[in-house]
Amino acid sequence: MLGECEIENSCQFCQKMFKSKTHVRTHIEDLHFPMETPCPCCEKIFLSKPKMLRHKSKKHPGYESEFKKKRRKNKKKQGGKKESKKALADAAAATTEAAVVAT
Ligand SMILES: [Zn+2]
Ligand SMILES: [Zn+2]
Repeated sequence: MLGECEIENSCQFCQKMFKSKTHVRTHIEDLHFPMETPCPCCEKIFLSKPKMLRHKSKKHPGYESEFKKKRRKNKKKQGGKKESKKALADAAAATTEAAVVAT
């Protein structure tokens, strides 16, 4: 049971352990399934996606890809699922109240 988390963060191909799932995915994309990926900023071709991302963060630091944005959103969702639901209900209640006051 204790090791469950660690198993999740290990590479299924070489059993190497990583700090996070993201690291595992980066490792897999870099070593086991390298795919030629062009940089969306300068269209230079890289041997794998992580290599491209590394280049991009170095050479085009201001650029944020859709991929990164999506991941950030997912993280937020995971962080406060209960909270956001409650907040949503509160916001809805507040809007209703405000509407009632306004009319
Ligand atoms: Zn591996
Ligand atoms: Zn580039």
